[in-house]
Parts: sequence; structure tokens; C-alpha cells
Amino acid sequence: MTLPAQAQVVVIGGGIIGCSTAYHLAKDHNADVLLIEQGKLTSGSTWHAAGLVGQLRSSASITQVLKRSVELYKTLEAETGLATGWKMTGCLRLATTADRWTEYRRLATTARSFGMDMELISPAEVKRMGPLLDTSDLIGASWLPTDGQASPADITQSLARGARMHGAKIVEGVRVTGFEMEGRRITRVLTSDGAVETETVINCGGMWAREIGAMAGINVPLQPVKHQYIVTEKIEGLATDVATLRDPDRRTYFKEEVGGLVMGGYEPDPIAWTTGDIPRPFEFQLFDDDWDHFAQHLEQAMARVPALETAGIRQMINGPESFTPDGNFILGAAPECSNLYVGAGFNAFGIASGGGAGWALAEWAMRGEAPLDLWVVDIRRFSTLHRDRDWVSERTLEAYGKHYTVAYPHEEYDSGRNRIVSPLYDRLQAYGAVFGSKLGWERPNWFAPSGTDPRDVYSMGRQNWFVAVGDEHRLVREKAGLFDQSSFAKYEVTGKNAAAALNFIAANDIDKPPGRLTYTQMLNSRGGIECDLTVARLSDNHFYIVTGTGFRTHDLAWIAEHIPPGADATITDVTEAFGTLVLMGPRARDILSAVTTADVSNAAFPFGHVHILPIAGHDVRALRVTYVGELGWELHIPLAATTDVFDTLMAAGAPHGLRPVGYRALESLRLEKGYRAWGSDITPNDTPFEAGLGWAVKLKSNVDFIGRDALLALQGKPLRKRLATFTTDREDVVLLGRETILRNGEFAGYLTSGGYGYTVGKPIGLGYVRHPEPQTGSYELVVANERVAAHIHFAPLYDPDNSKVKA
Ligand SMILES: Cc1cc2nc3c(=O)[nH]c(=O)nc-3n(C[C@H](O)[C@H](O)[C@H](O)COP(=O)(O)OP(=O)(O)OC[C@H]3O[C@@H](n4cnc5c(N)ncnc54)[C@H](O)[C@@H]3O)c2cc1C
Repeated sequence: MTLPAQAQVVVIGGGIIGCSTAYHLAKDHNADVLLIEQGKLTSGSTWHAAGLVGQLRSSASITQVLKRSVELYKTLEAETGLATGWKMTGCLRLATTADRWTEYRRLATTARSFGMDMELISPAEVKRMGPLLDTSDLIGASWLPTDGQASPADITQSLARGARMHGAKIVEGVRVTGFEMEGRRITRVLTSDGAVETETVINCGGMWAREIGAMAGINVPLQPVKHQYIVTEKIEGLATDVATLRDPDRRTYFKEEVGGLVMGGYEPDPIAWTTGDIPRPFEFQLFDDDWDHFAQHLEQAMARVPALETAGIRQMINGPESFTPDGNFILGAAPECSNLYVGAGFNAFGIASGGGAGWALAEWAMRGEAPLDLWVVDIRRFSTLHRDRDWVSERTLEAYGKHYTVAYPHEEYDSGRNRIVSPLYDRLQAYGAVFGSKLGWERPNWFAPSGTDPRDVYSMGRQNWFVAVGDEHRLVREKAGLFDQSSFAKYEVTGKNAAAALNFIAANDIDKPPGRLTYTQMLNSRGGIECDLTVARLSDNHFYIVTGTGFRTHDLAWIAEHIPPGADATITDVTEAFGTLVLMGPRARDILSAVTTADVSNAAFPFGHVHILPIAGHDVRALRVTYVGELGWELHIPLAATTDVFDTLMAAGAPHGLRPVGYRALESLRLEKGYRAWGSDITPNDTPFEAGLGWAVKLKSNVDFIGRDALLALQGKPLRKRLATFTTDREDVVLLGRETILRNGEFAGYLTSGGYGYTVGKPIGLGYVRHPEPQTGSYELVVANERVAAHIHFAPLYDPDNSKVKA
């Protein structure tokens, strides 16, 4: 086929992701689609994949995306006439340690929360299902009957045929070489065979996606890694419908293939391929077998399947696959360009993801919004840090090496640390800070009391910081604590139409007089919550916005993309211009009044206001807000003055017992107060009504805003689900989020956050109840596969009348 001069949507890349995206664009949206592949279809990473298809992930939405893949693979052959090799064999995951077994008990609960049946079975049952397995070291296994395997090249060809059947054009042997842009928009895709005019471009370039993105100035942070597996000759006694097997304690996986076994693994010392561009041509190509490196897997696999000792090896596959710094794939609208979408970096589960990811990407590109909460895979979770290829490579290799290690709660990465530090880093370290990292920033998670080891010791139960964090928590409730939240993302919006533009994007009314703050959500067209932030009006045409560290790129892009065309309103990221100290607790006013000449009484400086306060000779933006349920201020300080202001506050706070406090105490404090966290408790899947945030929506005004129509349609109707707080009297229970909520013994939802409240002395969770009468009924939580009695609460557990906080 010759290259057309024009196409509504150009998909770059003919692997499983590009073909699935083209299929869904053509079939679901009737779009005029052109797919461009530089070699032949499947010739990148897809043709040599092993073909295991697992569905369960730690995010409900991603699990839903993977379930969609399976639904599609089951029916695709009937539609296109081309087989996919789909076999629903089920998947066994083996456990040989107590921690792994706890992980599976939690996983089985997560599966149930997400609507899947995962059973935990005994070593004897494993032996019955896989007679060739040595089960002598097993504690048990998890069993997910709906997982399976498929033929990667066949599915991809089947998707390509489906795409063509619905009108998509596919050209092979044509390479995309660049883009012609007008401002932030691509107008023409340049190729080895000429240019194509287009409205929308979707980069499904696999490990080339980074290079393709760079042609339009966008960053796709991925790293190709060499991944190996072997295929054996036929093995006597191996059933063709045997379950796929993951043996993470031995770092290996298996599946049946024409009577033999496919066996591969995730080693702790992976080998990155190039950090430069991919050499050309690279089509249906593999690396040389690396038996020395693979020996570690072979040894472990033979211990599990002794028949491997005598099985002939038919082939070794050593191919490149793109991995990412956090092990999640990369999807969605590139923040740097208005009409370029990305689907890449599939971390060796691109076959499992392909069907669903193509659906999501097609929806996103055609509607301009993600069809559900895809935050964990959203390309806007990255920042400029991820343009550093060495950092990306180092962190990615660590993530690859952890693929099969036990996932301990609260675990931090070790690589690429100390990249961005606040000016207070040394001071906080002297106080015993144990740091975690978020978007490259080092942030104090907790403070080790003197005489104790300042480091995390991971375990499945209560961890070594539990008591110290309790002390920090109580300090904030009883006296005052100082949080270094300098990593907060901060923006300024200026211009004659700044107020009108922001009021169109925000659900709450931000058009208040200068000096006022507004806590607001920003909604998508379905009324789902896309951002959750504070807007301070500094003057008529000058707003200051504060949001969470991790949401920096996302929220900036959301606001920038939704400023109405032609409006005089400009958003600027000023994150690094300000250090942020958050002073919270009943003594906060005493401390603050000792360091400023300004009047900080409630009458002069009420809740919900912003003032410029002189502190230690510097002008500080003080926001009277709280995320912990105590009296307090967020102080935004010119960055270079952060240490001065910190020292001044600490000196003035000494008689009051003021000490620095970390993020783990913050989490416990906010859970007691029932404050929601974006990305877990409130997401694009949840409306403000469901989240109990209807009070922060300006429906009574006649100001138009994004999501208003959707909310009007929902107003007054019964809620599908409602956010509530849960507690249990079982002190020993560790809540982490994703535990199942049972109402009268029936599934009613799952926790979106979990932790411990030191003031109430109980484990706490937040979660949506899917029942028209959530107030009634008796509740239980399923925690690591065990039912525990629970209480439901609709008011905050701590200080429900707000009297102390707002006076
Ligand atoms: C050894 C191994 C085993 C694996 N096993 C599994 C498994 O069991 N289960 C699983 O789910 N996943 C597995 N994977 C992962 C899976 O193979 C990938 O996630 C998936 O194939 C990625 O698909 P893709 O479409 O993103 O990339 P690709 O298949 O690489 O497709 C990208 C395409 O873009 C084309 N392209 C690039 N640049 C240009 C350009 N400038 N112009 C035009 N076209 C261009 C390339 O030629 C290529 O065909 C495995 C991977 C490896 C390496």
C-alpha cells in the first residue's frame, strides 16, 4: 500500500500495541487511521514474546485494562478468522517463604476487591496440577483460573486484520523520520516515503518510542533491557493445558509450548541494552545467547522442574524489551505536545496489556480524556528528572531486578537517590530524618529518635518506624510539628482572564477576593476528579496554586490544556522558587506570632486566607489551611530563605516542643481527619458527590465549568457509591488499601487508603461503599484473606466540629 497524503490519526509502530490501537480506533470510533511500521508487523519486541497473559495488578483500573485484553483475545478469532493462540490455562504463583505467603494472602484479597477469584492452594494441590514440579519447599500457591497464554505474533496479525476490516490502512517498510509542528501541535508526520497531514499522532514505537517522542520534543522515559528465555524440546508427561507458572522466590516463570516448556526469569543483575538510539535496521533480530547470565535461572528452574535436567533445549531467545523506572507502562497524552499520545514501555507485559491498552489509548486520543483512572500508567507521572537517561536506566534496572522480589509495604528505591534535596536536607538529617523519594525529591518519611538506627526495616507486619511515627503524630495533635513540604508543586496563573479561566477549569468558585484561598477539584467531562489542589488569590490577576509533589506534570498539563483558547491567562511552574514549611498543631499560633510582627490572630488572619508575613527578614506567603486537622499554616518561602525561616521557627518553637515531623505521620493524621488523597481516594473514576466533596462544587452559581453538565445530570440521583471511613478494633491488623469491604457478608467495595490512626488508636481505611444505604448493615473488612469486624463512619474520626482548627 502506498502512503496516503492525509489521515485523521497516524499510529506509529506495528507491534501489538500499535495494532490494537489501530483496531480500536477503526472499530470503536470509525476513525480514518493510518498505521506506519518501519519494518514488518511484529518485528520489534512482539514476535519473540513468551506470551504469558496475567491480569492482576495492584491498580483496579489497570487490572480492568488487562481483563479487557483477555475478553478480546477470546473473541478476536471469531471476528477476524485469524487465531490468537489464546488458552485459558490459569496461573499458579508459588510461595516458599512466610512473607511471600502473606503477599499472596493480600493479593487474593486484592483480586476479590477487583472482581476476580484467586484461590490459595496447598502444595499437594500444586503437585496434582503440575506433577513435574518439585513442591517440597512450598508453603502453598495462589491460583488464578482466568489467566492464560497466547501467541503474540498471531494476536497482533489478528488485530491488524481486524483493523483493516474496519477501514484502517497499514503500511509496512516506511519509517517515521520527524514531525512538522505549529506551536505545540503536530501538523505533518514526515516519513521515508513522504509526509502525511494529520490531526492526531499515537506513538506506539516500543523501544523506539523514546526516539520518536524526541522528534516532537517529548520525553518517553524507558530503557531497553535484554530479556532471555529458553524453549525446550518435548517433555514427557507435560500436559498441553498445564497452568502457566510463576515461581518468584526462584525468579522464574514457565509456560507450555508444543509439548515443551518456555522458561525465563527476572534476574537481580539485568543487562541494559543501549542508552543511545536503537541501531538500524533492527528487525526480527535477537542478541547472542548469553548462557553465563542465564545460568542463574536454569539452576533455579531445574530445582523446581527436575525434568529440565534431561530436556533438550530447542532455542534460546534473547531479545530487547522496554522497561520503565517504576515498572508501569506509559500511556496517554504527552504533556509537551497537544496532539501526540504515547503507548510504550510495557515491561514484559505488553501481550497481556495489548488488547486493553489499545482500547484505552484509542478512547483517550479520540475523546481527549482517559476513559478511566489511568494515573499509575499516565505519562504525566514523570518530570524533567526523567529526561536524564542515566537516571532512567539506573532506576529501571533496579525496578526490573525487583520484579519478582516480595513487595514490602512502604518500600523505597535505592538507586538514583539524593537527586533533588530541599535546602533543609542536612538539618533534617541531623534530626534523624529517614528519607523517601518522590519524583526525585528526598523527603523525610520519619525521624529516628536518637540512639535508634535511622533506616527502614521492611516487614509484612508493623515496621520499625511505627512507634516513632506515633510520637510525631501526637506531637502535632498536642503541641506542634514542622513539615518540610518544599517538594510541593507550585504554579502561578497570571493575566487579565486568569480568574475566568481558572473558574472554568475548577469545580469550586475560585473567583473570590484577593487574599482568599479555595480548596478545589478539577473535573473531567464525566465529572471525575482530575486534580485536587489549593488556589490562593494573591491579587486580581495573580493566583498561586499548590498541589502534591507527584502531580506536578499532570496538574500543570491539565490546567494548561484547558485554559480557553485566546484567554489572557498564563500558567508558570514556580516549584523551585519556594521552599515550603508547614507548621501545624495547637501551639502553631503561639510559635508563628513569636516570629512575625504581623497579626496572626483568628480575627486578623482567618482560616482560608493567604497573607504575606515578614519572617526572619523575608516575605513569606502564609496559607491558612490544614491537611492534618489542626490549627496551622503553610509557609511558602523564597527558596534561599528556607533555612533562615526554619531556624527561626525551630528556635521560637523550642519552648513549645516543636520538632520536624515526616510524611508517615502526615498520612496518619490525614486519615483520622478523613482528608482524601488524589490518586487513591479521589480519582478520575470518582465524582465529588461520591467523594463527599459536593460542598466544594459551584453548581448553585451559573458559572460554567468543566464537568458541570455531568454533575447536573447526577444531582439528586442516588449515588452509585459513597466514600466512608472504616476502623477495626483489631489493633494488630495492618491496612494498606485494596482490602475488600463486606456489608452483611456481601462484597460492597474496597479500601482506597489504609493506615493507622494514633490518636484514635485504631487501624483506619477509606473506601467507597457500593450500596444505596451504606449507613445501615454490618461491615467487615477482608484483610490478607481474613475477615475482621469493622465500623463504618461518615464523619471524621478526629475533631469532627473543626472548632480547634478554624478558630
Ligand atoms: C524475551 C521476551 C519475553 C517476553 N514475554 C512476554 C510475555 O510472556 N507476556 C507479555 O505480556 N509480554 C512479554 N514480553 C513483552 C512484549 O514482547 C512487549 O511488551 C510487547 O511486544 C511490546 O509491544 P509494542 O507494540 O509496544 O512494541 P514493539 O513490538 O517493539 O513494536 C514497536 C514497533 O514500532 C516500530 N517502529 C519503531 N520506530 C519506528 C519508526 N520511526 N517508524 C515506523 N515504525 C517504527 C518498530 O519497528 C516495531 O515494530 C516479552 C518480551 C521479551 C523481550
